Amino acid sequence: MTVDARVVIVGSGPGGATFAEAITRFGWDCIMLEKGRNHLLEREPPYAPKTVFSNDEIKFVHRHVLGPDPLLEPRTYRRDEDDGERLLVGDVNNLPSTVGGGGVHADSKLPRFREEDFRLRTTYGPVEGAAVEDWPISYDDLEPYYAEVERSIGVAGDHTANPFASWRSGPYPMPPGPDMYGATLSTAAAERLGLHPYPAPTGANSVPYDGRPACNNCGFCGLYGCPIHAKGDPIAMLRRALQTGRCQLRPECVVTDILVDRRRRRATGLRYLDAAGDSHTITAEFVVLAGGAFETPRLLLHNGLANSSGLVGRHLMYHVQTLSVGGFPFRLHGHRGRSVTHLHDDHLVPDREARRAAREAGLPWIRGGIVEHGAAAGPVLEAKTYQPGPGHNPSMYHSDLRDRLWVFTMQGEDLPQPTNRVDLDPAIRDVWGRPAGRATYRPHRHEVVASAHIAPILERVLLGAGAEWSFSTTSPPLGPITALDRQNPLGLAPASKHVMGTCRMGDDPTTSVVDAQSRFHDIENLLCADSAVFVTSTGYGPTLTLAALALRAACLLTGNPLPRTNRPAG
Ligand SMILES: Cc1cc2nc3c(=O)[nH]c(=O)nc-3n(C[C@H](O)[C@H](O)[C@H](O)COP(=O)(O)OP(=O)(O)OC[C@H]3O[C@@H](n4cnc5c(N)ncnc54)[C@H](O)[C@@H]3O)c2cc1C
Ligand code: SF4
Repeated sequence: MTVDARVVIVGSGPGGATFAEAITRFGWDCIMLEKGRNHLLEREPPYAPKTVFSNDEIKFVHRHVLGPDPLLEPRTYRRDEDDGERLLVGDVNNLPSTVGGGGVHADSKLPRFREEDFRLRTTYGPVEGAAVEDWPISYDDLEPYYAEVERSIGVAGDHTANPFASWRSGPYPMPPGPDMYGATLSTAAAERLGLHPYPAPTGANSVPYDGRPACNNCGFCGLYGCPIHAKGDPIAMLRRALQTGRCQLRPECVVTDILVDRRRRRATGLRYLDAAGDSHTITAEFVVLAGGAFETPRLLLHNGLANSSGLVGRHLMYHVQTLSVGGFPFRLHGHRGRSVTHLHDDHLVPDREARRAAREAGLPWIRGGIVEHGAAAGPVLEAKTYQPGPGHNPSMYHSDLRDRLWVFTMQGEDLPQPTNRVDLDPAIRDVWGRPAGRATYRPHRHEVVASAHIAPILERVLLGAGAEWSFSTTSPPLGPITALDRQNPLGLAPASKHVMGTCRMGDDPTTSVVDAQSRFHDIENLLCADSAVFVTSTGYGPTLTLAALALRAACLLTGNPLPRTNRPAG
C-alpha cells in the first residue's frame, strides 16, 4: 500500500524534533504536524532561524504569543472528585503550542537522571498509596542516547562538578557559561552548609557551537524565546531534520484523530484540521505521538485507543515546586544571566536528617529534587504586585520584590499515583469542539513531608548568603486552599511545566501503556516520543531524558541502535 509518509509525527517539541532528526538521518521520511504557529525558523532551505523573539515581557509572559490561548484551548483542574467536575478552567500548566513546543521558551537546564532514578522501587522500596516502580530500562541502556542528545542540542556543563552525578562516557560538548552574581553568593552559602552546588548543565551555547552564537546572558531565558538562538533545543534538531529534505513541517495543523485498522491493532495515519478548518488525512507506516504528556493521553482518550490497561492518562506527575525566597539589602541584578546558572542535587539523596523526617512522618523515605539557584521574575510582574498611587514609582525604583530577591526553586519528586490523571472534561470544549483535557491531581503525603523538611534548609542558605528575611511557598498549595492561595500568582493548579507519566512504560501490558521501546502495547506501530512514558518523575527536569528516550525509540525503530557505552574504569 502506498502511504503519504513513512512516519507521521504529532508535535514539534523537543520529543518530536529529536525523533524526526534521528529517523531522517537514517534515510526515513516524515511529516510533522504542529497545531501552533511557526515563530522559530523559515520554511525554505536553509531554514534560517526567525528573529521574532525578544525580552518583551508583555508579549511573551502576559499575552499568549507562543500559545496556547487558554480561552481557545482551555484545560480544567480539580484536586480530586470532592471538587466536583472541576475547580478551575483555563491555563493548567500549559506549555507553548508553537513550532518547537516548550523547548522554545524553556531556559534549558538539562541534567541527566541518576542510575537509581531508573530503579526507585528496588533502591528505596514501595510507598503506600503510590505506584513506585522500576523503569524497564536502566541508566546504562540510556547513557549512549544521553551523550548523543547532549551533542545534538549542545549542552554546556562541567562533568566533574556534581558529586552525585552518575557515570558518563565523556564530558559535555561545551564548558559552562558564566555565573550569575546572585549565584556566587548562594552557592558559597550552600557550600558552607555542606551542600554541593554545581554549574547547571544548560542547552545554551557557552561558546559558538553548531553554527549558532554563544549566549550573551541577556537574562530573558525562561519564558522567552532566545533572540539569537544560542539555545539549541529544539531548533538544532528541527533544522537538521528539515535540511535532510526528508521532513515536512506543517504548522497550524491540529491532529484530531488517530486512524486505525478495523481490529484497532494498527495505526494507519492521522486526521487533522488545517488553519482554515479543513479536514485532511495522512497515511503512514508509523504514527508517533509527541504532543506532550498532557495532550498525548488526551488524544488517545478522545479516540478511545491503546487503553486496554485502563492506564492511559493515569500516573500524571509534575514536580512539586518548593520556592524559598530571600530578600537582600542590596541589588542582585538577577535579570542578567541565563535565569538559573547553578543547581544542587543534595536533597535527592536522603541523608540522616531526611531519613529521620521520613520516619517521624511514617514514610519509608523522602526525596526532594534539584534546587535551582535563580532570580525573581520580570518588571511587569513586579509592577502588578505594588499598589497603584504615589508609592508605586519609588517601589519600582527600589525593587524590593525583584532586584533584591533570590529564589530557590526545588523541583520535588512527585510520586506516581493512579488517581492523579488526565482525562476528558465532561462539559468544557476547545475551539475545535473537542473535550478539554482535565487534570485531577493531589500530591502524595511524601511531597508534603519532603517540602516541609527541605524548605527550612533552603531558607537557612538564603539567610547565610546575606538575605535579611526569607519565606517559602509551594506550587501547588499543599494544604487546604486559603484566600491567600486564591490570590497567588502561581495559581491553584500546579505551576510546574514538567508534565510526565500519563502513558507509563513497562514490560507488562496490564500495568503499563508502552513497552521498553516506547511502542504502545495495544498498537504495535504507534509510538510515544514525549515524557508521557516516564515511570517516575525523579527530581530532575524531564527534557534531556525525554529527548534521549525519543532518540532511542527512533534508533530502535529504524534498526540503528547506538553502540553501548562503557562505564569508565576507576
Ligand atoms: C518556562 C519554561 C521553562 C522550562 N525549563 C525547563 C528546564 O529548564 N529543563 C527541563 O528539563 N524542562 C524545562 N521545561 C519543560 C520543557 O519545556 C518540556 O519538558 C518539553 O518542552 C516537553 O517536550 P515535548 O516534546 O514532550 O512536548 P512539548 O514541548 O509540549 O511539545 C509538544 C508540541 O505538540 C503540539 N501538539 C500537541 N497536541 C497536538 C495536536 N493534537 N496536534 C498537533 N500538535 C499538537 C503542541 O502544540 C506542542 O508544540 C520548561 C518549560 C517552560 C514552559
Ligand atoms: S540568556 Fe542566553 S540563551 Fe537565554 S535568551 Fe538570552 S542569549 Fe539566549
